Amino acid sequence: MTRNEIMQWLREDNPGRLQELWRRADQVRHENVGDAVHLRGLIEFSNHCRRSCGYCGLRRENQAVQRYRMSEDEILTCARQAVFFGYGTVVLQSGEDCGLKTEWLARVIGRIKAETDLAVTLSVGERSLDDLRLWKEAGADRYLLRFETANPALFEHIHPSLPGEVSDRLQLLRSLRELGYEVGSGVMIGIPGQSFADLAYDLETFRELNLDMIGVGPFIPHQATPLQAEFNASQSNPEQVPNTEAMTYKVLALARLLCPRANIPSTTALATLNKAQGRELGLQRGANVVMPNLTPPQYRAMYEIYPAKACIAETAEQCHACMKQRIIALGRGIGRGRGDSPEFSARAGKPATV
Ligand code: SAH
Repeated sequence: MTRNEIMQWLREDNPGRLQELWRRADQVRHENVGDAVHLRGLIEFSNHCRRSCGYCGLRRENQAVQRYRMSEDEILTCARQAVFFGYGTVVLQSGEDCGLKTEWLARVIGRIKAETDLAVTLSVGERSLDDLRLWKEAGADRYLLRFETANPALFEHIHPSLPGEVSDRLQLLRSLRELGYEVGSGVMIGIPGQSFADLAYDLETFRELNLDMIGVGPFIPHQATPLQAEFNASQSNPEQVPNTEAMTYKVLALARLLCPRANIPSTTALATLNKAQGRELGLQRGANVVMPNLTPPQYRAMYEIYPAKACIAETAEQCHACMKQRIIALGRGIGRGRGDSPEFSARAGKPATV
C-alpha cells in the first residue's frame, strides 16, 4: 500500500467502502493471528513522572495528582491474580518515574518470573540501555514504547526533551529489539497539529519497524495539560486529523493490513469513546488483544493519563468478567499461554502458535 492509498483510506467516509476496509482487516487478522483474543493484565504501578508531556495528565507540572508507587508485594499480588484469571501476560506500566530504581524493578520482574509462567511486558518510558539490558536479563519479555507521532517536530512539541537528553524513541525501539525484547509501539490519533500526511507516515513507520505489537488510540484532551487549548483551537482546521472513533478504526484496520502478524490491542482509549461497543468493534476491525486492568481500585483513579477513562471504578474481577463475556459474545475464544506475536516468533525462528 502506498502513502497515497493510505491517505485515501484515512479520508474515506463512504460507508460501503469502509465496510470493505473492516472486512479486509478482519480477514487478515483471522489468517495471521487467529481468532483467539489474548488478555494482558495491566498493572499501573506508579504515576510518578519526570516529564512534561503536553498530552498526559500525569505530567510533572500537574500538582493536582496524588502520586503513588505500588510496593513489590502489591505488584506480586496483582500478578498472582493474573494467573488466577488465566492471563498469559502482565504489563507493568508507569510514568517515567526517576524514583523507580533499576535493581528494584529487576527484582520484581525476577519474582514474577520465578513464581509464575507469565510473560512480562514493561511500559515505563525512556530508560538507559543498561537499565533495559538488566531488566531483559531479569526476565522481561516485551517492551511497549509508543513513538506517539513520527513527525519529529510535532513529537518534540508534545513531548519536550529533557535538558541534555534528546528523546529518540525510534532509536530506542531498535535497541530494544537488539536486546531481544518483543517490541511494541504506537501513536495517538488526533493530536492537535497532526495532519493526514503525518498519520499516513505513522502507519508506514509501523511497517518499517516490523513491530511485534501496535497500540493506537484516540488522543483525549486532559484539562490539566497544554494540549487542551491547542485541541480546541485545532478543530476548525480541515487538515487536522479528528480524534474520533471512526478515525481510530481506520488506523487500527490499516495497521492490521500493513503489519499482518502483529499483536494489536483494542485499547482502553477507544473503549472510552464508546463504552458500549468500542472494544468489540476494535476486535472486529483488526485487533486481537485486550488489556483488562488489574490495578488495585485505590490507585486507579490516580492514574489519569486522560479523563473519563473506561473501567476506572471497576475491580479486577469486574474487568475480567466483563471482558471475557464480551469476547465470548463475539464468538471469539480466549487466548491461552503467552500469546507471543507471530511476527516475533518468526524472527526468533520459533513456530507460530496461532
Ligand atoms: N510513561 C510511559 C507510559 C505512558 S502511558 C511512556 O511514556 O511510554 C501509555 C500511553 O498512553 C502513552 O504512550 C500515550 O500514547 C497514551 N496517552 C497518554 N496521554 C493520553 C491522552 N491524553 N489521550 C490518549 N492517550 C494518551
